[in-house]
Amino acid sequence: MAHRKYIARSLRFTLSAVYTGLFTLLLLGVGLLFRQNLATNLNEQARDDLKQSWDVLKANLRIENDPGQANYHPVWFFDTNDPDENSASVRIQSVYVIADEAGRPVPKFYSSTYESLGFDKPDEVARVLGSGQAQWIEKKDPDGLPYLIRQSYVMSEDRKRKYFVAIGKSFAESAALLRQFDWLCLGLFPLVIVTGFATGWFFTGRALTPVMEIAQAAQRISGSNLSLRIPSRRTGDELDYLVETFNQMIDRLEVNFNQVRQFSTDVSHELRTPITIVRGQLEVALLTANTAEQYRDAIVDSLQDIERLSQIVRALLLLSQAETGQVILQKQTLDLVEVTEGIVDQFQIPAEGAEVELKFEALVYRCQGEFDRVQIERMLSNLLSNAIKFTPKGGEIKVTVGREGDEAEIVVADTGQGIPPEHLPLIFDRFYRVRGKEEQASPEKGLGLGLSFVSWIVRAHGGTIDAQSAPGKGTQFRIRLPLREEVAVESTDEAGPDEMKPA
Ligand code: ADP
Repeated sequence: MAHRKYIARSLRFTLSAVYTGLFTLLLLGVGLLFRQNLATNLNEQARDDLKQSWDVLKANLRIENDPGQANYHPVWFFDTNDPDENSASVRIQSVYVIADEAGRPVPKFYSSTYESLGFDKPDEVARVLGSGQAQWIEKKDPDGLPYLIRQSYVMSEDRKRKYFVAIGKSFAESAALLRQFDWLCLGLFPLVIVTGFATGWFFTGRALTPVMEIAQAAQRISGSNLSLRIPSRRTGDELDYLVETFNQMIDRLEVNFNQVRQFSTDVSHELRTPITIVRGQLEVALLTANTAEQYRDAIVDSLQDIERLSQIVRALLLLSQAETGQVILQKQTLDLVEVTEGIVDQFQIPAEGAEVELKFEALVYRCQGEFDRVQIERMLSNLLSNAIKFTPKGGEIKVTVGREGDEAEIVVADTGQGIPPEHLPLIFDRFYRVRGKEEQASPEKGLGLGLSFVSWIVRAHGGTIDAQSAPGKGTQFRIRLPLREEVAVESTDEAGPDEMKPA
């Protein structure tokens, strides 16, 4: 439970925090950009206003002097009866100054507001007059309110004198607007952070609920109840996919687990029978045998059973080594026609003994590929010994080697007793035997490991095997082995071929 809380808390918190962080950053970025834009716009608008005012001013201001005299004085030409001009004059004359070349403001030609901003210093006046261009500056009044100032000059009528003229516009409104914006953002931010985090928390919580359910369900699944599955939510989302994958994994685990369980039951069963027999034989000998001959017989019988026991153990060891990848294939270039024919030849004597006809047919002249000779021979031996074992007298076994595209095809077909359909899918399992009455009577017939090994050898070579059978008519094993493709599963051999088929 503590574990559960820990997962929920950390992941949920991290996701919500990241979400909030990103959200805040985004908002901050957008806010800054917007503010920057707003400030630039306000500034440009103020400049435009001042430029317009300047044009009006120039048209309505003259610096006059009496001809031939230096008594220059500015004169306004506004028609105060015209409402437009009147308002323009009021606007311009609210913040302005006209000063002579020495920077002295001309009496009555400046506004009190401009005075409160502070008259321009002589050197600054000189600079503006000298530059021939309008200058833009900012000034603050005693209350700290900002003003945008446009400094320029006007020539006297006789074009002999320049007069410094500055007009200004309060920037207070714009500044207030920007300040308002700042406050709004400042107020909005905590709200955004809180709601962002809350929303993130809510949604991640919702998204994580199924994860917690999956975790809980997974916790309930153990070795003893591997049949439990996590119910699918049927939403088709990623979590559903996770549930599905998880369930599939449990499916596989269950199969493996059952196999292991079955396997250990089988192993103990297989080992118990010969042990019981040996024990019985020895006990009987101990109680009843009188002569050395009788003891000898008992020991010989017991040794045979002990031999069977060690065969089982050796075969099991080999099979488990093969299936855990400890056996690596020793591949070499091999002609399957030649190898198969050789093995068929070796089985002619046992076939004759069983009064079964054993035939070989090559559908191709050669069938070359990269194979492990020992394993391929072992595979063929297992199939042939089964075929001989399960084919009654007078029957026929036919081995064919052919080729289909990039694959070799080996078919071992017999006219034996066949395998009932319900057993067919299971014959490759370890210890699986189709037990007829005959087999029960003679347990030494087989271990049920041969086909497991055949199947492993085929898979290790990247091939496939399938069995078809008609009870009473015969069985056919068809093996396909790739001749060119790279084989995915590689394994090696450490034991000899004759160790596999103990029967
Ligand atoms: P076993 O050692 O018993 O032969 P295998 O794994 O080789 O073990 O075979 C498993 C079972 O499959 C056999 O016990 C037998 O019942 C059945 N089987 C295998 N090959 C044949 C065949 N050619 N004809 C009929 N039954 C077969």
